[in-house]
Amino acid sequence: MDHSATTPVAAEVLEATLPYFGEKFGNASSLHNFGMEARSALEGSREKVADLLGAESNEIIFTSGGTESDNLALKGIAYRNRDRGKHIITSAIEHPAVLEVCRELEKQGFEVTYLSVDSEGFVDPAALESAIRKDTILISLMHANNEIGTIQPIEEVGRIAEDRDIFFHTDAVQTTGKIPVKTNDLKVDLLSISSHKLYGPKGVGVLYIRGGTKIESMMQGGGHEHNLRSGTENISGIVGLGRACELAQQIMSSEAERLMHLRDKLAKTVLESVNDSWINGSMKWRLPGNVNFGFRYVEGESLLLYLDSKGIAVSTGSACSSHKLEPSHVLMAIGLRPEECHGSLRITMGRSNTEEDMEFAAACIAESVERFRGISALGR
Ligand SMILES: *Cc1c(COP(=O)(O)O)cnc(C)c1O
Repeated sequence: MDHSATTPVAAEVLEATLPYFGEKFGNASSLHNFGMEARSALEGSREKVADLLGAESNEIIFTSGGTESDNLALKGIAYRNRDRGKHIITSAIEHPAVLEVCRELEKQGFEVTYLSVDSEGFVDPAALESAIRKDTILISLMHANNEIGTIQPIEEVGRIAEDRDIFFHTDAVQTTGKIPVKTNDLKVDLLSISSHKLYGPKGVGVLYIRGGTKIESMMQGGGHEHNLRSGTENISGIVGLGRACELAQQIMSSEAERLMHLRDKLAKTVLESVNDSWINGSMKWRLPGNVNFGFRYVEGESLLLYLDSKGIAVSTGSACSSHKLEPSHVLMAIGLRPEECHGSLRITMGRSNTEEDMEFAAACIAESVERFRGISALGR
């Protein structure tokens, strides 16, 4: 129940990729038959990704994943538009793949506004509009947050960016394949995707770049991917991502509905059975499979380890398990105190989860909170 961290490769995806580790090993740049076979697989996948996004296939650039796509989008626009301006707008709750790039760009002389969010994690489009300056070149705002699942009003921000002639990027890693993500509806110029978050293989992703949008390349070499991402293409990974997009499109609406039901059921059961508990994020504009609980007087870390011993994989915004010294920047940004962040538990459901899983998880969560509150120095 940690599908926001990664997802298993779907059986259909694995099957589609296997020949590309075997007899179909060609380099897509070669002119002989092996090369042509790889080239046609590459272009076939490009069309499948474009279809899912309602985009043109020449707007799809394959990368090594979500992190590279975010880097390429932000640095690519920033470096290309240096002469036009040096101001970038983003939010305080972005993924590190955006936030850390912004910090790096600040070192290089760019100026970044980190918009605050409200208690449910929403950016206020009016506040965003008033943060725009004459020298603003880029707005980067994630589609949905990976910790609390809040879905931002991207269409509205897209309209603002379009009116003011500012490039607009969204990190859609958590939404692609789960809810409709159409580049024209969202009015984005750039959009990042990661294959392993949508039942595809790891180490492959996409940056969508609207036709006519010029960016600087980060990787120099043989000129692959419209000269934007040199390097021999990861054909097996790309084939897997294409197949994953096709599958996601087929089952999206029924799966989203099923996950929303599981999510709401788990949230209700746990809130009813555990005192001093709450939900972080919005219940209205929320990723279908995401629940983020807050439990007072208990450490998320202890809950995580206990649940792991029961075979349930979850994550927490507590400081210890994040391999950092700070509690989650997302939970802090929605106004939680550090001790409230420590008692957080993120549960993200996916294709293999069932109603019975929810019942078992709810019982284990209630049991573990009770147990650790009993022995905690913070407990009542
Ligand atoms: C996972 C994730 C990324 C990074 O993607 P990788 O393919 O793992 O590099 C970026 N943004 C968000 C919102 C994510 O959830």
